[in-house]
Amino acid sequence: IFSHQMSTDAQSVAARLNSSGFIRSQGFIGGKWTDAHDGKTFEVQNPATGEVIANVSSMGQKETREAIASAHDAFLSWSKQTAAERSKCLRKWFDLIMDHKEELGQLMTLEQGKPLKEAIGEVTYGASFVEFYAEEAKRIYGDIIPTTMPDRRLFVLKQPVGVVGAITPWNFPLAMITRKVAPALASGCTVVVKPSELTPLTALAAAELSIQAGIPPGAVNVVMGNAPEIGDTLLASPQVRKITFTGSTAVGKKLMAGAAETVKKVSLELGGNAPCIIFDDADLDVAIKGALATKFRNSGQTCVCANRILVQEGIYEKFAHVFSNAVESMKVGDGFGDGVVLGPLINDAAVQKVESLVQDAISKGAKIRIGGKRHNLGMTFYEPTVITDVKSEMLISREEVFGPVAPLLKFKTEEEAIRLANDTNAGLAAYIFTTNMQRSWRVAEALEYGLVGVNEGLISTEVAPFGGVKQSGLGREGSKYGMDEYLEIKYVCLGNMN
Ligand code: NAD
Repeated sequence: IFSHQMSTDAQSVAARLNSSGFIRSQGFIGGKWTDAHDGKTFEVQNPATGEVIANVSSMGQKETREAIASAHDAFLSWSKQTAAERSKCLRKWFDLIMDHKEELGQLMTLEQGKPLKEAIGEVTYGASFVEFYAEEAKRIYGDIIPTTMPDRRLFVLKQPVGVVGAITPWNFPLAMITRKVAPALASGCTVVVKPSELTPLTALAAAELSIQAGIPPGAVNVVMGNAPEIGDTLLASPQVRKITFTGSTAVGKKLMAGAAETVKKVSLELGGNAPCIIFDDADLDVAIKGALATKFRNSGQTCVCANRILVQEGIYEKFAHVFSNAVESMKVGDGFGDGVVLGPLINDAAVQKVESLVQDAISKGAKIRIGGKRHNLGMTFYEPTVITDVKSEMLISREEVFGPVAPLLKFKTEEEAIRLANDTNAGLAAYIFTTNMQRSWRVAEALEYGLVGVNEGLISTEVAPFGGVKQSGLGREGSKYGMDEYLEIKYVCLGNMN
């Protein structure tokens, strides 16, 4: 049951975005807005209110095949454009995204629920990949290999892999798309994007801006609807040379297996189980600030969110006390509300998962410090929660919580902290809080993770490589390393014509 008070702002925003044409409900194929061939649609809801924002075309195999064909046609010309031309288009796309950051942020809050300030922050972050790769487009260098044979010359060229299938999640409706599409376009690839059915509207708005930026029709296509059918069609097509995916580990494994049939390149950004380790010698203010930021951003629905807060025994009680006070003061509400820092979870199923993990922890001896139940604001809201006496064996320490719940575990020694932190199949992000310089690099080196924050809880940036080890994924996004994912290496040997 939703509270009706909350919807007033959301309704007026939705009406305004609708009347200005900013809310698109059709797929985007070959530069044209396209209905599903059978006219089917699905509803996109505001998670804070349950209101329907749009009825979006529900697509499947037929439309995906058309999108792949468009992307393939576009590839033949886009891949032959000069680097300068591709760079110019990306730069224009960046400018347009930034010009529309308020509307894009509002649209994101409407369909995803995150507080407006955070949504606009994501637009800026998402745009930063477009700006960065507009520059990187001009820096795709090959190599000359010193020859061992006087009558030959040996070269290495870097060329775009071809058509890319990009499948993305709901928790970052724009940034997870631009982080893939920008390097793909910069390298000369073209893309079929399949955004989450929970948040397709931001993706469609970004696609509209790509056309305005001069990115040619067919270079960026968006289809959504029947996710497994779209996924299978992308996997089956020999024209799709790469699948890039961000989402759950379970779906990532399926896609990786499916890509084997046509031997596609695969990049996977999957789930995490981030440890946030607070040592006795940490600066308490820095540790509290960092742990709050990494745990509660996006209501805890972030793959790099601290999933387990490991606190050394000497500081455990003090940390639990100060941290709980800070968490208790966080304002929960509709993302359009003043001062709101925690929005709703994406849907009822997400809240149910959080409830079951919290119940399991309580039944095994963990204690609720604050929160611990659904919020009285409505069915998708959960109270900001701190749980103490959490043990490594509890489900809450083993699975991604993906909600505003901070489990605090206690450890004695540095060795024990490292062992607990690495005791998981995931390996995306980890955080350390300490004032001991030697310890910071010693522990950073020992952690089996793709990203490590030291005395900092928010570390993602377009200029640094993002990605996981173990079952958190394959490949890196962002930075110069992210570009390599969309490039093939070709060796050319120039022989002697005499
Ligand atoms: P999900 O795996 O359910 O969905 C991700 C995408 O895959 C969606 O577009 C969905 O429609 C699509 N999909 C689902 N089944 C499919 C199939 N059979 N074939 C093809 N596509 C299919 O994940 P989610 O719930 O949207 O996102 C949350 C998960 O994403 C979390 O586990 C989170 O950790 C992870 N995530 C990881 C990163 C990262 O960079 N590592 C970033 C954000 C989110």
